[in-house]
Amino acid sequence: MYKPRRIHFLLYQAQQGRCFHCLEPMLDRVWTRGKRGEKGWTQEHVIPLSQGGGRAGNVVLAHRLCNGRRGNQPLSDIDLARARMIIAAVAARLPTAPPVLPYIPLRRIA
Ligand SMILES: [Zn+2]
Repeated sequence: MYKPRRIHFLLYQAQQGRCFHCLEPMLDRVWTRGKRGEKGWTQEHVIPLSQGGGRAGNVVLAHRLCNGRRGNQPLSDIDLARARMIIAAVAARLPTAPPVLPYIPLRRIA
């Protein structure tokens, strides 16, 4: 099992330090529980936990504010594809595949 910190670090690198939603820079290391600045990063569940999304392979990083704005809205197909690329880039840098790979259904983009 991989330590979440390692995954978060790799996600941060794969996203070039930018928020998944607004693409503005996220402040590194603003992760202290209860003391998250608006520009700090949080775990953003690609498929919300409330809609059956898992934890492993289902996380990208986003500003706390942007994460909150999204709430439980499903991601667009383009954003799903983008999240899948980020997660795949992180998975490729782990010694072996994470225990649960994400299943993100892709519909045709009209
Ligand atoms: Zn943002």
